[in-house]
Amino acid sequence: KESRAMMFQQQHMDPDGPSTNSNYCNQMMRRRLMTEGRCKPVNTFIHEPLVDVQAICLQGNTICKNGKPNCHKSSSSMKITDCRVKSSSKYPDCDYQTSHKERHIIVACEGNPYVPVHFDASV
Ligand code: C5P
Repeated sequence: KESRAMMFQQQHMDPDGPSTNSNYCNQMMRRRLMTEGRCKPVNTFIHEPLVDVQAICLQGNTICKNGKPNCHKSSSSMKITDCRVKSSSKYPDCDYQTSHKERHIIVACEGNPYVPVHFDASV
């Protein structure tokens, strides 16, 4: 069984990316198994070192979208890629819009060690 922390890394971490290509999301969403059963509608990849993303758990505490109190907003902006499924996309041919951005990100953290387990938003 995969831990939620490992799942977060599988779905959201790409420290060495992105390749500058508009197919990034189509390739990565498939490679990271988010197009199995359905096309996951929205997903963000983070292009920063894992230690810097883990450090967000020690940064500004904030309320998550679901009302839980364990979210944290990065004090720096981070390189991210925002993947959103196109309205014309038809499963199983998941087709995504790829947008590279620099944003502060909000993650939920849990456990001991206290590490990211959920991507809440970019702002
Ligand atoms: O906001 P919502 O509850 O619809 O998000 C569902 C999932 O989509 C999140 O758990 C996260 O994995 C992903 N997401 C994301 N980047 C965003 C918003 C949502 O990766 N900006």
